[in-house]
Amino acid sequence: MKIIIHGGFFSESSQSLETKIAKQNALKQVVSNSYEFLKTHTALETIVYAVEQLENDELFNAGIGSQIQSDGKIRMSASMMDGKSTKFSGVVNIENVKNPIRVAEKLFGTVDRVLGGEGATTFAHSNKFEVFNPEIPQRRKEYEAKLGTKSMGTVGCVALDAQGNIAAATSTGGKGFEVPGRISDSATTAGNYATMHCGVSCTGIGEDIVSTAVATKIVTRVSDGFTIEKAFEKTFTELKEIDGFAGAIAIDHKGNIYHQDSHPSMVFASYDGKTLEVFE
Ligand code: ASP
Repeated sequence: MKIIIHGGFFSESSQSLETKIAKQNALKQVVSNSYEFLKTHTALETIVYAVEQLENDELFNAGIGSQIQSDGKIRMSASMMDGKSTKFSGVVNIENVKNPIRVAEKLFGTVDRVLGGEGATTFAHSNKFEVFNPEIPQRRKEYEAKLGTKSMGTVGCVALDAQGNIAAATSTGGKGFEVPGRISDSATTAGNYATMHCGVSCTGIGEDIVSTAVATKIVTRVSDGFTIEKAFEKTFTELKEIDGFAGAIAIDHKGNIYHQDSHPSMVFASYDGKTLEVFE
């Protein structure tokens, strides 16, 4: 059993040491809880469990604490993928829910598994997800000052369970100040992808992640026989060619945990039952 989670990027220039320590502690807590959970649950159940906790923590830009778009509204995106069945489900630009990843989970068992905008919000509210405003005062202040946080905090998780199954989930409040209707990578296979060979969750600038198809390429390369190191190396070289900004976390079927970012520093934590690694 293995697990890795991320909480987007951390910028030394725009965030305090206090915030860094708070993020490290939050990630340590979530990765430990989720590893415990993984002992008695599948990888698919665990990625949802981990991402829900990160959505509930306002330190991160997903669920509560999401960024505000240019028209003053919050629209969130989340997705999950099961490596064994290669089923993908997600919500794009959903509004007024607490946990977008739980809505993606609800969609997982349905036929129309990726819903966007009004359709996603209506689906959630008609399936007993409470009407919830995820805005926090700090984000409104940043929005009014047109500052943005300058550090993105999308969240994600990849897990490998005791049966050898891999799953990945990602959730985001977006870039902040984006044009309404802009689509993040987080609920696409460029930002979140898994097969029985590998799972990847990304963070960074959605447009760059989609252009390079980061998660899809890494996972496909591992599935085609690349080592996880080589799959990351080739994909991040391609990302560099477009001067892209992204980070990715991954686990392969052999239990190798891997992560890389194009710029310092992606916020992540991993646990393999022995060593808990957290970003510095
Ligand atoms: N990838 C997200 C987006 O472009 C943002 C992030 O990861 O922080 O919407």
